[in-house]
Amino acid sequence: MTSEPASEAPGRVYLVGAGPGDPGLLTLRAAELLARADVVVYDALVSPQVLDRCPPDAERVYVGKRGGEHSRTQEEINALLVELGRRHAAVVRLKGGDPFVFGRGGEEALALVEAGIPFEVVPGVTAGVAAPAYAGIPVTHRGITASVAFATGHEDPDKPGSHLDWDQLGRGVGTVVFYMSVGRMAANFDRLVAAGRSPDTPAAAVEWGTYPRQRVVQGTVSTLPARVAEAGIGAPAIVVVGDVVGLRERLAWFESRPLFGRRIVVTRARAQASDFAAALEALGAEVLQFPTIRIVDPADREPLRRAAAEADRFDWIVFTSVNGVARYWSALRESGLDTRALAGVSLCAIGPATAAAIEMEGARPDLVPERYVAESVLEALEREADLRGARILLARAETARSVLPDTLRERGAEVVEVAAYRTVPDGAEAQELKTLLRDGAIDMVTFTASSTVRNYVDVIGSDVGRAEVASIGPITSATARELGLPVHVEAAEFTIPGLIRAIR
Ligand code: SAH
Repeated sequence: MTSEPASEAPGRVYLVGAGPGDPGLLTLRAAELLARADVVVYDALVSPQVLDRCPPDAERVYVGKRGGEHSRTQEEINALLVELGRRHAAVVRLKGGDPFVFGRGGEEALALVEAGIPFEVVPGVTAGVAAPAYAGIPVTHRGITASVAFATGHEDPDKPGSHLDWDQLGRGVGTVVFYMSVGRMAANFDRLVAAGRSPDTPAAAVEWGTYPRQRVVQGTVSTLPARVAEAGIGAPAIVVVGDVVGLRERLAWFESRPLFGRRIVVTRARAQASDFAAALEALGAEVLQFPTIRIVDPADREPLRRAAAEADRFDWIVFTSVNGVARYWSALRESGLDTRALAGVSLCAIGPATAAAIEMEGARPDLVPERYVAESVLEALEREADLRGARILLARAETARSVLPDTLRERGAEVVEVAAYRTVPDGAEAQELKTLLRDGAIDMVTFTASSTVRNYVDVIGSDVGRAEVASIGPITSATARELGLPVHVEAAEFTIPGLIRAIR
């Protein structure tokens, strides 16, 4: 795609617009540069999903200014870019929206010119156009307004030496779009009115425009400041003044999507998860991917090893997952044994995937109950064998629930449970998800397979707070209920589109 040789010297600094938030609004050029960046220097208003496009080993330098933290001055940032430009081939300076629209990109470019560092500019979709567009407000409209001004709302309008020509903004342009204006909105509006703009002019504030959490408050020049204060609208927000705001009534497409504003957890099951997530996002939902998990050894592996070494001591071995099968056979091999050690043992596999895993090890399961529900396993076992006095090994997850062993024991079986593996979260997201659930900040948790239910419960537990649980079909629902999760929505047709229809 790019014509630069790979090992350019000196380096190059790219002043790149990240767009307003929605990662879909990133330009192709920006995505391409991020993918091969050595260093990314970024601000507070760059969405994490955009930042995640840089290589995992790229250095990330945060120079943001939000949250009142002591931050670098613009001079320090300029100097940093010059220094990085000397040391690295590709430095991406990533800014929210467009780098040259209230982004101080011009100052950084001047510093690079002065230091003789080559640079390029990649324009971005600016918030002043995108946030109104996502609120259903075209900034110009034939027959309504033919001009638009982008202004900073941050200057103190009463301070002498303001760079804004208020007479022009009041009377000379159609639409006025204010950046950084929540704090001074009332003062700015007073100046517009003093300059001749009608107090009845429609106006709107768009907070977190293009994000799933976008909020819009609408009114007129005279009513908007109070409404914004009442709604608690804060930065980042764009304020639009002009008759075009009236079009929102008919054009508010983004917020009228059926799942707008809903937070939905998608639990990963192979490749389907990303299609499912994309479909939910297209309907307006904010999708949280359930954290990636890792399967590791149980805290104490000795019981598994012993159960494998004495394989022939059991009448039945019950496997509840592919992971359990894999780890049991490893333990067999470590004891110098192989599948022949199970000659006199009956094998029970729960679900077809588990059965297939046993066949891969060269054995054939004697019993394959369809469903991971204690009753169904029990029923199947009872049909096959006399449970009284039967010695049954359960090889499964460390945190598995005790319903199945308890019921088997009630029927007189002698049950040995061993932890074959442990499901652990891969990263900090699991704790974050638990907190969100506890705070009632999640609307729905979705499951597309029994295996995802088990992984989810292993890592997060079965308390979903006020969230609803949606399942792809009766088998997944049964697993969920078995593991203590309530099921509120079940697809009538057991496919991803079926599940989406049920959720809608
Ligand atoms: N270079 C950026 C603007 C940076 S100034 C651009 O081109 O968009 C920061 C201001 O941008 C914020 O105070 C807010 O007014 C606006 N802004 C940035 N992202 C926004 C968003 N997603 N929704 C609403 N306003 C946003």
